[in-house]
Amino acid sequence: MIGLRQASQLDDHVHSTAGSADARDSMMALCARAVALGLRRVCFTEHVDYDVTLPEYGYFDFARVRRAWEEARSAYAGRLEVRLGLEVDFRPAFLARMCDDLPRYAVDVVLGAVHSYGGRHLLDVRADKATWAPEELGALYAAYFRDLRLLIETGVIDSLAHFDYPYKLGLRPAETADIPGYEEELTATLALAIARGVAIEVNTKGADTGTPLAASAAILRRYRELGGTRVTLGSDAHRAADLGGGLAVGAAALRAAGFTHVTTYRARAAERVPLEEQA
Ligand SMILES: [Zn+2]
Ligand SMILES: [Zn+2]
Repeated sequence: MIGLRQASQLDDHVHSTAGSADARDSMMALCARAVALGLRRVCFTEHVDYDVTLPEYGYFDFARVRRAWEEARSAYAGRLEVRLGLEVDFRPAFLARMCDDLPRYAVDVVLGAVHSYGGRHLLDVRADKATWAPEELGALYAAYFRDLRLLIETGVIDSLAHFDYPYKLGLRPAETADIPGYEEELTATLALAIARGVAIEVNTKGADTGTPLAASAAILRRYRELGGTRVTLGSDAHRAADLGGGLAVGAAALRAAGFTHVTTYRARAAERVPLEEQA
C-alpha cells in the first residue's frame, strides 16, 4: 500500500542498463534497491544521444527499454511505482532530428540536458585547464544558456536536467570573481522556462559527499523571485549504490528556498507532490 507520497522518497532521474550505456545496473536491480531504501517511486530517464561519433551511440533502443520497464513495473506492482522517462542530450546540430524523434516515444517525462560546449563534453572541457579566466567562463556560460533556451523553444522537453551543469562540474572562476554576463543569461533562461512551463531540476548526484546541487540555492531563489514553481528532483544514479543519493539534501534546499512542492510528470502532465516536513 502506497501511503503519503513525500518528495525525498521519489527519485525522478535514474539510469539503467536497459537504455543507458554508462549505467551499471538493470531496472530490476535498481527497483530492488529502491524498495530496500523505502523509496515510493523511481523514474528511469534513459539517455538519448544523437552524436554518431560516440561509442555509445545506438545503445538506446526504445522497444528494449519499454520491455524492461513493463517487466519491472509489473514485478513491483503495489510496492514501488516505476515510471519511464528520457534524458535527451541536446546540441543545436541535433535540433531537427531530436524534434522528429522524441515525440515518437510514449514516456512520462523528457529531461532536456546540455552536456557539451563547442561540440565537446563539458567533462573533457573541464580537463583542459585548472583555472579559468572570468571572460572564458563568460563565453562558456553564454553558450550553455543559449543552448538551453534553444532547447526550451523546441517544446519537446519537460524539465532542464542539472541546471546549471557547468556549475555542478565546478567550472567557476578562482576566488569570488564574477562571471561576465552570467546573471543576465541566467535570468533570460529562467524567464523563458517559466513562460513555456518547463521545469528546472535539482540534481542531487554526489550531494551527500559535497558535490554542489544543480540547481543551486542561489538559482532556486532567483527562479522563485521570477515566479517559477516547477522543480523536479532526482539523484541521477547510474548504479544501485547511488540510488536516492542526496534527495534529502535537495529537498532541504528546496524548502530553504521557499518551495512547498516538487513537480513530477506522469504521461507528460505535471503533478505536484508536497515536500515532507522533516529533513
Ligand atoms: Zn545529464
Ligand atoms: Zn542523467
